[in-house]
Amino acid sequence: MSPRHHSSDVTMVRRAAGNLSAGLQLVLDAHLESCPHCQDRLRLFEATGGALLEQLPPAPLSGASIEKIFVRIDSATVAPSRRRPAAPVRVDGKALPAALSGCAIGPWRYVHPKLRWAKVKLPDAPLERVILLKIAAGFSVPEHGHRGLELTQVLSGAFSDGRALYGPGDLAEADDEVKDHQPRVTAEGECLCLAAVEHPLRINSLLGRLFQPLMGI
Ligand SMILES: [Zn+2]
Repeated sequence: MSPRHHSSDVTMVRRAAGNLSAGLQLVLDAHLESCPHCQDRLRLFEATGGALLEQLPPAPLSGASIEKIFVRIDSATVAPSRRRPAAPVRVDGKALPAALSGCAIGPWRYVHPKLRWAKVKLPDAPLERVILLKIAAGFSVPEHGHRGLELTQVLSGAFSDGRALYGPGDLAEADDEVKDHQPRVTAEGECLCLAAVEHPLRINSLLGRLFQPLMGI
């Protein structure tokens, strides 16, 4: 089934402009893999950005600027065919989205017997706030608010957060506008999610605040 919940246009424009943090981009890219609708939107926004750039009048570059550009091009050139493809990341025997390839997944830790999490460390951006969450059927995560953007991709299972019901392949987006939400997993089964936040969450419960520094979100 095709995903029913997608990123906002603002987030997709940031992705097209290369303006998302590496962690948020990872989660959005995991969504893009299974969402033809968002693949089309991204192509549209990239094409629109390219067309706008073409309309800008050409500006002369100084010799120093040209030199800097060549240095950047040289340092950025990596022949893709020489890169060793990273093995897919697996959880419980299931392959996770290819966007996670090359990431190191930390050990599973408990916040509560019904809520486990594992840190996702990006090879080039290890400080990004990205985690995998395994939440038992019927359980609610600690109530929290946001500072900046939060993206959550559902890998299996489903949860609802008072705004919508999110199932496999769906992307839930929340920001400062979403006050104190408390996603709850549906009764049908465990939910596995990939989540990233731009800035640390505002967690209201004592239990959540105790674990927040460890979880890094
Ligand atoms: Zn989508």
